[in-house]
Amino acid sequence: MTSKIAPRILIVEDELIVAMDIENGLKQMGYIVVGNVDSGQAAIAAAEKHLPDLALMDVQIKGELSGIETATIIRNNWNIPVIFLTAYADEATLDKSKKAQAYGYLLKPFEETELHTAIEIVLEKHKRVEDQKDHYIKELSLSEARFKLLLDSISDYAIFMLDIKGNVISWSKGATKLKGYTAEEVLGKNIALFYTEEDREKGFPKHSLDMALKDGQFVEEAWRVRKNRSLYWAHETIVALYDKTTSLIGFSKVVHDMTQKKLAEDLLKKTIKTRDEFISIASHELKTPLTSMLLNAQSFERARKKNDQKIYQKENIDKLVDQSIKQIKRLKNLIEDMLEISKIKSGKFTMEWTRFELTAVVNDLIGRMMPQFLEAGCGRPELLASEVIFGVWDKGRIEQIFNNLFINAMKYAKGKPLKVKITKECNAVLVEVIDQGIGIEKSKHYKIFERFERAINIHDVSGMGLGLYICKEIVEAHQGEIWVESELGKGATFKFRLPLVPETNRRAKVELSLIP
Ligand code: ADP
Repeated sequence: MTSKIAPRILIVEDELIVAMDIENGLKQMGYIVVGNVDSGQAAIAAAEKHLPDLALMDVQIKGELSGIETATIIRNNWNIPVIFLTAYADEATLDKSKKAQAYGYLLKPFEETELHTAIEIVLEKHKRVEDQKDHYIKELSLSEARFKLLLDSISDYAIFMLDIKGNVISWSKGATKLKGYTAEEVLGKNIALFYTEEDREKGFPKHSLDMALKDGQFVEEAWRVRKNRSLYWAHETIVALYDKTTSLIGFSKVVHDMTQKKLAEDLLKKTIKTRDEFISIASHELKTPLTSMLLNAQSFERARKKNDQKIYQKENIDKLVDQSIKQIKRLKNLIEDMLEISKIKSGKFTMEWTRFELTAVVNDLIGRMMPQFLEAGCGRPELLASEVIFGVWDKGRIEQIFNNLFINAMKYAKGKPLKVKITKECNAVLVEVIDQGIGIEKSKHYKIFERFERAINIHDVSGMGLGLYICKEIVEAHQGEIWVESELGKGATFKFRLPLVPETNRRAKVELSLIP
């Protein structure tokens, strides 16, 4: 016998004498007989109760179940090998017994030695099959475990499998990390869950799966949705999976988060677009005064060639000088703005802090700008200030803010009166520059403070979209804030608030406050 412990055998035989005979024979051979029954039902009950190592099964037994049916149940439920015993060896019976996965087949009458040999062969064969099965299962679970370990170690990629309908059937740790769903939350759900509503309306993810089916694999980049509804830019590869018989069994999907790269690319594109727009606006703005001066100079040149002395009359020369000065000033302002921007961008925007009275400085600036106000038809701006307001600021830069806001008011509220209101608050000063011009639509209120951003059609009024950006930088360098309140067509009020002594100058305040 192959095993040290005596094998336990169940006899299923409805002929009593034969059954007794087999039982005696088995015992003599050293086997343990755990039951000797005559029907299918009794055999099933005994199998469940004793879990024998083998069953000897008569093909024709009592009761509703045949020996073959009983053997099938015993095999399927408890994996017990069966040797059929029968007096008839017709093809049909043999065939049926094979289907019942009989391990052995003995024709009655048989010798004890035949029975012994058959039992030993069947037990050995069963053990081998079971050992192989164990080995295979161990190998399989080992390789599955290794594979899962490998997948889970790739934490930067979401790797998972889908069935043919696109339902998730496997999930890696990387997938949880990227998408925020645990395996329990997502298994069995359709991948449509990860797509934006917009993409779903366009026929995704079905379209992606169809493309993977058509071409074997489908690669795409798009915004996808995490569990917390945030978006990430995904690089995805979907591969159609087939079994050996080439029927589709599902898809594999590998997803990589490319959000940072996408944002960097978008920023680069925006920067390039902004630069191109700036070049086009700057060329236009710089060319306009130059063209005007060139035209004037050319008319003088033509007159000189024709020796036309009339052109040298005082009024013509005065006009030429006035216009040229105006254009040169415009060019100077533009170039100064551009230099200012490059200073801001390169961090060379330095501040010179002094203590001064704001209303007086504004009043003085208005006086100096009067010719421009008059030319723009705005008249003298009304200055409303309740009290003298001292603070520690950069005088030149504060003038620059007012200068930019006044120039804008003259451009966008031409011919309309202008008001400047200065109010002292607790530790700050609030300035309001109020015009009655074209106004600004709400959606542009924030944008116009960005570089090169303009709210109006650039051909209507000249400008490069730099003035307010510079104002904002200066106000922020004073730890203040600037904003606009306006409606299209209803004038604009630019407001900024400055701390009387910006934080960076708290120490300086003590010394400066001593200066009158
Ligand atoms: P620029 O005037 O050179 O275009 P700014 O940065 O000074 O650049 O202004 C940005 C934009 O804000 C302007 O193009 C204009 O559309 C809008 N804007 C500025 N000031 C006013 C104002 N007082 N009234 C209406 N729109 C204004």
